[in-house]
Amino acid sequence: MTEITGGCACGKVRFKIAGPMMGCAVCHCRDCQKASGGGPNYVALAPKLGFAVTQGHARIYASRADSGSEVGRAFCGDCGTPLWTITAPLVPFNPVKLGALDDPSGMTPSAHLYTDSAQPWHLMHEGAPRFPKMPPMGRPN
Ligand SMILES: [Zn+2]
Repeated sequence: MTEITGGCACGKVRFKIAGPMMGCAVCHCRDCQKASGGGPNYVALAPKLGFAVTQGHARIYASRADSGSEVGRAFCGDCGTPLWTITAPLVPFNPVKLGALDDPSGMTPSAHLYTDSAQPWHLMHEGAPRFPKMPPMGRPN
């Protein structure tokens, strides 16, 4: 089984993901634009059962998604690297920022979410489906 590892820029927070990712998405919502610094947010959907923090403690910024459920955005309290999002209990995955992975090169975004909030200068991949908000399956942001 493949194991994917990642962490923040300063190295204090490390994590690993066992098992195949459940998808790879690009989120254009305004919250993700804040978290990314302006671009859309590229995330791998990591199965919660296979996700583990292996070093350090992330800080959590809790906010409310437009579904009404609370989401937590994990980041390194020292270097500020955005790391992953803690979704509602029924969602089977945590979106992990591709930039936090040790090797994000193998990830291919398969959907664009919240394109209603996309900036006119956000580039989108040809062929990947686009959703104006969130598709019914879950909440990757
Ligand atoms: Zn750090």
